[in-house]
Amino acid sequence: MAFIEMQEVGYTYKEGEEPPVTALKNIDLEVEQGEMIAIIGPNGSGKSTLAKLFNGLFQPTTGRVTIGGLDTSNQDKIWEIRQQVGMVFQNPDNQLIATMVEEEVAFGPENLGLPPAAIRARVEEALQMVGLDEFRQAAPHHLSGGQKQRVAIAGIFAMRPDCIVFDEPTAMLDPMGRKEVMATIQKLRSEGKTIIYITHFMEEVVDCDRVIILQEGEKILEGTPQEAFQARDLIKNADLELPEVPYLVYRLREAGLQLPPNILTPESLVDKLCLLN
Ligand code: ADP
Ligand code: MG
Repeated sequence: MAFIEMQEVGYTYKEGEEPPVTALKNIDLEVEQGEMIAIIGPNGSGKSTLAKLFNGLFQPTTGRVTIGGLDTSNQDKIWEIRQQVGMVFQNPDNQLIATMVEEEVAFGPENLGLPPAAIRARVEEALQMVGLDEFRQAAPHHLSGGQKQRVAIAGIFAMRPDCIVFDEPTAMLDPMGRKEVMATIQKLRSEGKTIIYITHFMEEVVDCDRVIILQEGEKILEGTPQEAFQARDLIKNADLELPEVPYLVYRLREAGLQLPPNILTPESLVDKLCLLN
């Protein structure tokens, strides 16, 4: 059994007086421990709804979600599930509440009821992980967007989840902040965490193990980044943009150059171009 399994999952919002909105339809998905999966799709395609199904924040309307073999609809196990899967959201300001960085990171371990020495050790480890140990006494509102998002990541890391779901964590950041956060996520990945990375920036998915593209609540593609970037019509129809290098390769091939279609990085593009004559 895979670490995360979704079987024919659907989700419909049925709040209040408004007509119901079906945000997800018939999603099948398996994620193995240690994998980094990217989920991309335009606005309204169901990404955030899917994110909330990964840790039992939402229950599927149809189908089944299991995390480490536990069904997320099992209310007796919900805390166990939430401890296994942490969430980082788009807006760092909405996620931070403490007046000092180290207090912020300590919230999770405190809620787990750990003794003070263990809490201190976890806070230290988490701040080192995200490269903010020098900032332990800083006020979060004085930090840059990228630093704030790293504080949020440290807070989740300190709970020691197996998996972290990132819902567009770079969408509100400047290029510098985006780089910091991406590097931090790669570090988490190299430590063996399972990563679910939601974005609408296609260039951010180049390094992932697997890419899933959502459109209007349905999975329209699942494959390697190379496979995803080659599905150019599908990407265009879904209102997404190819990253620069795959787009350039596409145009060069259209212009008649004999390049392989699966080039993702500037380095490999240069290598392949130099081999042409
Ligand atoms: P994404 O994160 O890809 O932008 P969402 O999962 O937020 O997509 O939304 C998917 C669909 O569900 C959209 O049509 C959106 O309008 C709708 N939706 C999201 N949240 C709610 C809600 N609380 N009530 C009703 N409809 C919602
Ligand atoms: Mg969203």
